Amino acid sequence: MSTVVLTLTIPEIEQLREANSFAIVKVPAHTHYQMKFANFSLTAYTSGKAVFQGDELSIEAFLEQNGLTGIPQKSAPTTKKKAAPESTLPHGFANWSVIGSDEVGTGSYFGPLTVAAAYVPQDKIAALKELGVRDSKNLTDTQIRMIVPKIKELIPYKLLTVSPEKYNDTHKTKNMNEIKALLHNQVLKTMLETIAPEHPQAILIDEFAPASTYYRYLKGETIADKDLTYFQTKGESHHIAVAAASMIARDGFLAGLEQLSQLSGYDIPSGADDNVDRIAARILKLEGEEALYRLAKMHFANTEKVRKLANE
Ligand code: MN
Repeated sequence: MSTVVLTLTIPEIEQLREANSFAIVKVPAHTHYQMKFANFSLTAYTSGKAVFQGDELSIEAFLEQNGLTGIPQKSAPTTKKKAAPESTLPHGFANWSVIGSDEVGTGSYFGPLTVAAAYVPQDKIAALKELGVRDSKNLTDTQIRMIVPKIKELIPYKLLTVSPEKYNDTHKTKNMNEIKALLHNQVLKTMLETIAPEHPQAILIDEFAPASTYYRYLKGETIADKDLTYFQTKGESHHIAVAAASMIARDGFLAGLEQLSQLSGYDIPSGADDNVDRIAARILKLEGEEALYRLAKMHFANTEKVRKLANE
C-alpha cells in the first residue's frame, strides 16, 4: 500500500475528471471528486492536492497514462520513485497505427486463458482514450465489461479463448509461455488478415518473454509480420492498442468464468487464493477429478493443496 501526493492545477484536475469520469464514486466535502480503480483510489481536494492510495505500480502506470509523471510529489513516505520503464520503441510510437496483443488468465487457477489483439489506427486513438481505455489492471471488472462493447464497435479485434480442458491437454507437452507465444502469434495473424489490405505501422506484444525465446517457441510456425513486431513490458502504457487488447482479453476471461459457472453449477471465482482452493476442493470431492480438469489449470500449485483439502 503506497501513498502518492501531487499538487495539481485546475486544468489537470478537470482533465483527469474527463478521462476517468466512470471511476468517480463520490464527492466528499472539500474535494472535486473521489475515484476508485481496481488497485488504488484517488481523492482530488479543492486545495489542488491529489492523494493516490494503493498499489504503487498501478498508480505509476495511471500517472504515466494521464501525462502526470513530471509533477513533483509533495510527500510520499512509502513510495520510492523508480525510473520510468525503459522502452526501445521508436519516438512517437504512441501515435502510430498499431496492432496490440495481450493475454489474461495466466494467474487464475480457474477459467480460460484468453489472448486478444486489437488494431488501433491513428485516427481512433483519441476516441478510445475518451472511452476510458487504459491498463485493465487499473479498472474494475464492472468497468471493463461496460467499456469493452464500445471498444468492439469502434475498432477491429480478435479474441482467442482456450478452455481449461484444452489448456490442460496442451500443457502436457508445452509450457505456459510456449502456449502464450503460439496464441499471440495466431491471434496476430488473424488480425492482420482481417484488416488487409490495410497494414499497421507496427505490432506491439505485451512482453511476457524475451523476443528470442518467443521466436524459439514459434519454430516451424508462420510468423505474423516479424519485421513490424516490437516487444515491450507494460505495453499498455506505450500504446493504447495493447490497453484495448488487455481489456478485451479480460472481458473474454470474465465471460469464460461465467460460462464455467453456468456449466458446473458452482460460483467459479478468479484468482488463486485460499477461497479458490476451498471451492476447488468441494468440486473435486463432489464431482471428481474430470470435473476439475474442465474448470481449472491443473499444473498450478493449487492442485496439490486442493487434493489435500478434499481428503480432509
Ligand atoms: Mn500482459
